[in-house]
Amino acid sequence: MTIDTDRFRKTLLEERARVRDAIEYLHQETPGSLEDETEEIMGGTDNHLAEAATGTLDREIDYTLEENSEQVLQQIDEALARIESGTFGTCARCGKEIPEERLEARPWATLDIDCQREVERG
Ligand SMILES: [Zn+2]
Repeated sequence: MTIDTDRFRKTLLEERARVRDAIEYLHQETPGSLEDETEEIMGGTDNHLAEAATGTLDREIDYTLEENSEQVLQQIDEALARIESGTFGTCARCGKEIPEERLEARPWATLDIDCQREVERG
């Protein structure tokens, strides 16, 4: 295991705090009108919620919608659990190590790229 799990634990904890903030922001911003807001997010280029959610980090994170945020939150918690159990960074499907650059982009990834593509293809 060459992966620096301490560093990823820190990243994941920060990410979790940020996603929590984004979820709270969503709750404040859309009291009872999530549907209208969702259409606006999906269709608009003026995406202030996405900016608030992703902050200054230059990476693609799909939690502009509340549902995605909570999914990411769960994935982050699972990733933290994998760090504790020593299986972090190992593909859950083929057992190979997940490349560190993939973990940089998505520290909660459970699959390497090849397995991810096969799963998505169905
Ligand atoms: Zn794999």
